[in-house]
Amino acid sequence: MPSQKFSRKYLTRHKKSAQLWKRAAKLSPGGVESNIRYFRPHPFFADYGDGGYIYDVDGNKILDFMMGFGALLLGHNNRDIALEVIKQLESGSLMGITTELFPDYIVQIQKAMPWMKKVRLCNSGTEATMHAMRVARAFTGKDKIAKVEGAYHGANDYGLMSLDMDNRTARRMNGYKPVPYGRGIPKAIAETMAVVPFNDIDATAEVLEEGADDIGGFIVEPVLCGPGVIAPKNNYLKKIRRLTRKLGIVLIFDEVLTGFRLAYGGAAEYYDIRPDMVCFGKIAGGGFQLAGFGGEAQIMDVLEPGGGWRRGTFHAGTYNGHPVSVAAGMKALKILEEHPEYYDHINSLGRQLYGGLQDLADDRRIPAWVEYVGSIGNVYFTTKDEIRNFRDTGSTNTRRWWNWFIHCLGNNVLYGIPNTGERAFICTEHTEEDIEWALEVADSAFAAVAKEARRNRMKPPVVQLRAAASQAAVYGEAQIPPSV
Ligand code: PMP
Repeated sequence: MPSQKFSRKYLTRHKKSAQLWKRAAKLSPGGVESNIRYFRPHPFFADYGDGGYIYDVDGNKILDFMMGFGALLLGHNNRDIALEVIKQLESGSLMGITTELFPDYIVQIQKAMPWMKKVRLCNSGTEATMHAMRVARAFTGKDKIAKVEGAYHGANDYGLMSLDMDNRTARRMNGYKPVPYGRGIPKAIAETMAVVPFNDIDATAEVLEEGADDIGGFIVEPVLCGPGVIAPKNNYLKKIRRLTRKLGIVLIFDEVLTGFRLAYGGAAEYYDIRPDMVCFGKIAGGGFQLAGFGGEAQIMDVLEPGGGWRRGTFHAGTYNGHPVSVAAGMKALKILEEHPEYYDHINSLGRQLYGGLQDLADDRRIPAWVEYVGSIGNVYFTTKDEIRNFRDTGSTNTRRWWNWFIHCLGNNVLYGIPNTGERAFICTEHTEEDIEWALEVADSAFAAVAKEARRNRMKPPVVQLRAAASQAAVYGEAQIPPSV
């Protein structure tokens, strides 16, 4: 949580939002539609979005690096997508009967990710990963799924395993075990999951080899974004590809964040790996609710209807492949296909922004590590000069992060919603001038953080119950999950 001093400007600039939030908080837990949207002192309310900016109810024009949690690669309110949506609405909204758009859309998806021979659509990343895990279990006849510690795969019970934990729990664990993220997730689910550390091929191999008879699938964020942004290192992805092939484990890439962003073909193209299955979402819907999963035909064929429940497995949803979302997603994907230069643009802005943030922190002598891949990046306030996995993020100074974040937002730059290890996204509408301004604001935030650190050094030391504090962050007042 940010300190009062750092929040002052934000509070002054968001008076109407404060009133609206008070009302919403009486009607809904935390006054937000999703735990992830909550932050202290209170969330702000958007009026409209345009390009790389959000205009809020208090009249602030906010440079947005949250971009709909990464969904809005083409910026807010893309007119071409809006026109497709309006056109589609003229034919009705939901029909519940398949339309011609559906196969056309899958062909479009396959142009980007040809390794998905068969595809199904759903409405959210949460559904996509849940169903992909089920398909992997059904195909292999093995009941367990392995996941990476700290990885976020949506709000289903399986994905919420070992998403976050305090340092003490991690230290005491002696290895890697599934820890349900919050109450209400049955312990029995934990018994169906195995957990491995990202970027540690030896420890990963140990868990997968030991459990190979029971583990049907290994779901991986190719760039680990649950705890911020952690790039795969030392050919980790290639090594897990070889390992899972050898062990008969279905390798599922969760490309909900990375798909169509790192490259048109996502992380699989960027790192040149062919997973057995892919989950996609966010950008694939052009700002509308659309996600999906797909993979090798023989794997996806466990969903073939008509096999009955004894031989097949199940996937359904009233809104699956909603024509309005599919029309929007189709347009977004076509635009990206026609403009490969967009990727050069966002990646070059990524170097400018994230490289610039690292330089500024270094100049101000603030221990920080800025990790980024292309247009996704995150500032870790840490003395480490490498972040390899979830546990490395346990050493970060989250208080500093909050203060830095709220200082930036008080000056109308949104670097991502401030839950543990949040990240920033760049969109095609951002410009070099936007980044220059964002860096100016970030520098003033680094200066304020440095001043605070100097002030604190002069004070008598305070014993920090860090473990207790982070435990409170997990199970405490608002039960806010970390970044996603
Ligand atoms: N997987 C990953 C990698 C994600 O980042 C997210 C959401 N941020 C999800 C799955 C869940 O997607 P959704 O919020 O659409 O359910």
